Amino acid sequence: MLAWAAQQYAGRITLATSFGVEDCVLISMAAERKLQLEYFTLDTQVLFPETYDLWKRIEQRYGVKVRQVLPQQTLAEQAATHGDALWAREPSRCCNLRKVEPLTRHLKGYRAWVTAIRREQSKDRAHAKEVEHDARFGLVKVNPLVAWSDKDVWRYVNDFDVPYNPLHDRGYPSIGCLHCTSAVKAGEDPRSGRWRGTEKTECGLHVDQPAESKP
Ligand code: SF4
Repeated sequence: MLAWAAQQYAGRITLATSFGVEDCVLISMAAERKLQLEYFTLDTQVLFPETYDLWKRIEQRYGVKVRQVLPQQTLAEQAATHGDALWAREPSRCCNLRKVEPLTRHLKGYRAWVTAIRREQSKDRAHAKEVEHDARFGLVKVNPLVAWSDKDVWRYVNDFDVPYNPLHDRGYPSIGCLHCTSAVKAGEDPRSGRWRGTEKTECGLHVDQPAESKP
């Protein structure tokens, strides 16, 4: 699927990574096969130190460059405009400013993007297809791992010695920004550590987010 997409949309395709374990698998697959893909990450500037470290390790290991896509405002500028700790008061607005707007800006000029979402990750992703039209951003969305299970992902990681975020071993199956991600207990939904205590479950990159989170 990745090889097909890289050829089909040559020069106009980009792969999104937030350095979750699935993203690392996709980068490994693409880089090992020398597929012509561009890589980018949405750097909200509030990622975990472990994520920034993994970013460097992935680039070194696979000889790729993961482009840094930044929000329009620094954290200080955002605080001056919207007040301190916007993520604690209005996380959907914060996600719009620090993730959705930069993604929208970055995807202009591309015909397709690749993501590592899987159907079993959440009910919002349960109907994702391998290739679909992304009406929200106006391009083709390629999801090579939609049908993969958690076990499939970790088997690949172990078989091919793929670098991954050490937070995954400390109870963080899904890793986002520092302020909005907590560890989950055994038996909890894997994404329950994201925006814990609110009804928000997505940042708005893969599905429309709720109008505003409810504390
Ligand atoms: S995950 Fe949290 S800190 Fe990151 S952009 Fe969304 S609300 Fe802001």
